[in-house]
Order: sequence, then structure tokens, then C-alpha cells
Amino acid sequence: MSNATTTLAELTELIRQFTREREWEPFHHPKDLGVALAIEVGEILEHFRYRTNEQIHDYLQVTSSKRELSHELADGMWLLLRLADVCDVDLADAMKEKLLLAAEKYPADLVRGKPDKYTAYQKQSPPSCEPTP
Ligand SMILES: [Mg+2]
Repeated sequence: MSNATTTLAELTELIRQFTREREWEPFHHPKDLGVALAIEVGEILEHFRYRTNEQIHDYLQVTSSKRELSHELADGMWLLLRLADVCDVDLADAMKEKLLLAAEKYPADLVRGKPDKYTAYQKQSPPSCEPTP
């Protein structure tokens, strides 16, 4: 399996099978999956805590470190895919929609090389010429 040859639908089905074989469906409510996802994100961040960007780069050159991080990323993806499945959300469709919305919020010509939130690029409305009562 690789990114290039595996679809989200295939991964979702593998996770469904894994869940079904263990009869874990009763535990997979959206809230619990969301909490578990947040915990996994914390586990990802543990690999970066107290490290500079340069130290993280070096850390990821160590095979065992990169493998541990890859497992945490997979845990997060696992829960995200399961949460989307339980909520009947098509993640690929949602991702495409979000990319279109983000392109509207962040026009490339306007934001290139700038990390600010979209609200920083919204035009300020000119002061009103109406007299105040
Ligand atoms: Mg984990």
C-alpha cells in the first residue's frame, strides 16, 4: 500500500473490517472518535515538543523516530477516516470543497509568501460618509 495506489475508500473499508471483527462499533460514537483523534494529535506533537525546527529535521533522519511519528500520523488518519465514515462524510469530496473555499479566501496573487489569516487580507470598508446622529 502507498499513497499513490491506495484510495481513501480502501482505507475506510479496511478500518470498517477491523472494527467489525472486534465488535467495536458500539464504541465508535462521533464524540468518542473526536476525543480519540485529539489525543492522537497530541501524540504527534510529542515528537516535536521542545525541539527546534532544525532539531525536528535531524530527529526525522533517525529511522526509528520517523517510524514512531509515522505510526502516530497513521493513528490520527485512522480515527479521522473512521469519524468521517461514522458521520457519513465523504472526505475527498469535503477536501475538494475546502480547497475551493480556501482558494477564495486566500487568492494566490494576494497572499503569496504571507502566513496571515484570511481576515488580514479582507478589504477594510471605507469610513462612512453618513453624518452620525
Ligand atoms: Mg497513537
